[in-house]
Formats: sequence, structure tokens, C-alpha cells
Amino acid sequence: VVQAQGIHKRFGRLEVLKGIDFEVQEREVACLIGPSGSGKSTLLRCINHLEKINAGRLYVDGELVGYRQRGEKLYELRDNEIAQQRRNIGMVFQRFNLFPHMTALENVMEAPVQVRRESRQAARERARELLDRVGLADKEKSYPAQLSGGQQQRVAIARALAMQPRLMLFDEPTSALDPELVGDVLGVMRQLARDGMTMVVVTHEMQFAREVADKVLFMDGGVVVEQGPPSQVIGAPQQERTRSFLARVL
Ligand code: ATP
Ligand code: MG
Repeated sequence: VVQAQGIHKRFGRLEVLKGIDFEVQEREVACLIGPSGSGKSTLLRCINHLEKINAGRLYVDGELVGYRQRGEKLYELRDNEIAQQRRNIGMVFQRFNLFPHMTALENVMEAPVQVRRESRQAARERARELLDRVGLADKEKSYPAQLSGGQQQRVAIARALAMQPRLMLFDEPTSALDPELVGDVLGVMRQLARDGMTMVVVTHEMQFAREVADKVLFMDGGVVVEQGPPSQVIGAPQQERTRSFLARVL
């Protein structure tokens, strides 16, 4: 579903991604781990074209992200075409950014109704199913301020799923949560993985990565230092940099 080939990204003079290569197949879960500033969020943001890459090729579902290729030349997609590509990608951030003036149910219904022009009736039914799936069937009338951080994050996941994405991106979805709320959110993500969703997850939850990931990428200084199954990258890392990182977080 995702193919990244030689991705480079600079902010001014600062080169943040220095040639990233990886693939995520359909139904796979890839976890990105690595120290602060290593470029994990930037890489995730490149995948849905929130950031433009400076070099390399990035494909989602076989489509070049943000560009159209004619011969050797690349042409930037128009905004509406970029929006179209993004519809296939759900993203959940560290901060839940729900719409504060809408109930949980309305938050989940919003994009299907506004963007996909679904009927309110159909959108409401699916939103209810999704809230049920994330364990919040009884909270549909609650406003974000009336929900715990973990509940808000689960609404955010339901909201992303409402657009029926082919790929879900998570950027440290549990790191802003109180420890006792982390488990519920990870539980929802684990179930999503079991249901076959393709996912790229930036996380510091090594236990989750170990159990759920099909592949783990350890990033440091804008490069993927090591990638492979969790048993290898977390269980038996080959690189010194990976070992010293894991020694700090485990
Ligand atoms: P963390 O674990 O702290 O979230 P990260 O691995 O997600 O870190 P990024 O957020 O991708 O790291 O940032 C990588 C580098 O790029 C950092 O040095 C950061 O300061 C820089 N950076 C990120 N976004 C921008 C931006 N919009 N403009 C300039 N520099 C940026
Ligand atoms: Mg980050």
C-alpha cells in the first residue's frame, strides 16, 4: 500500500529525511520508532502530502503522492486532486483535535456528510457502528470536553475510519494520555490491525510494536537505521544505535 523510495525532506538547510526506503503491504502494520527529532512525524506527514518531499518517490495504493508523472517529468496535483488522495488515508495525531462544539456522533458524521455528501441518516448509522467499535456506543451525545483523553482519542479514530480509508497513519496516538487511558486506545488499534487495516504507527509503546507490528523501522538522524520484524529489530537489534535507543526506552 505504501512504497517509499529515496525520500528526502529539507526544512531550509536542515535535512530531516536523508533517503528513506520502505514498503508497507496491504494489511500490514509498520511501527516507526526512534529518538525525538529523528524525522518520524515528518515522514508520516509526507505520506499524506502534508509535507512535500524534495526528492524520491512516494506511492500510496500505487499512486504517486502529490504528483502526476508524464514521461520523466512530475507535475504537481491540484488541491482537489490532493484532497482526493487524502481521502484514502486516515490520520490520528497525538492531540485529538476533535471539533469541540460537536458531539462524538457529530464529529464522526462530519466528514462523510460534508466531504462525501452521504445522507445524514446513512452517516449517522455508520457513525454509531464506529463508536460501538471503539467502545463508545454510550457516549455519542457527549461533547469532547466531557470525555477523557482516551475516549477523545477513540472518537478521533472512529472519525478517521468514517471515511473508509485504505491506510491509517497514527502519530504517537497515546503519548498525550494518562497512563491508565493508554490501554483502551492501544486495544482499539490492536483490533483494527486484526481486522486487516493497513497501518503506519509512530509510537514509543514497544510492547505494542512487538505484539502488533509486522515490521518495525528504527529511525535516527533522518535515516532508517534498521528495519525488519519486531523479533529482529526490537528483540535482536543488529545496530549499536538501535541497541542504545532500546536500552533507554525499554
Ligand atoms: P518526536 O519524537 O519528538 O515527535 P520526530 O521524530 O517526530 O520527533 P520530526 O517532528 O519529524 O521528529 O522532526 C524532525 C526534525 O525536523 C526536527 O529537527 C524538527 O525540528 C524539524 N522540523 C520538523 N518540522 C519542521 C518545520 N515545519 N520547519 C522546520 N523544521 C522542522
Ligand atoms: Mg513526532
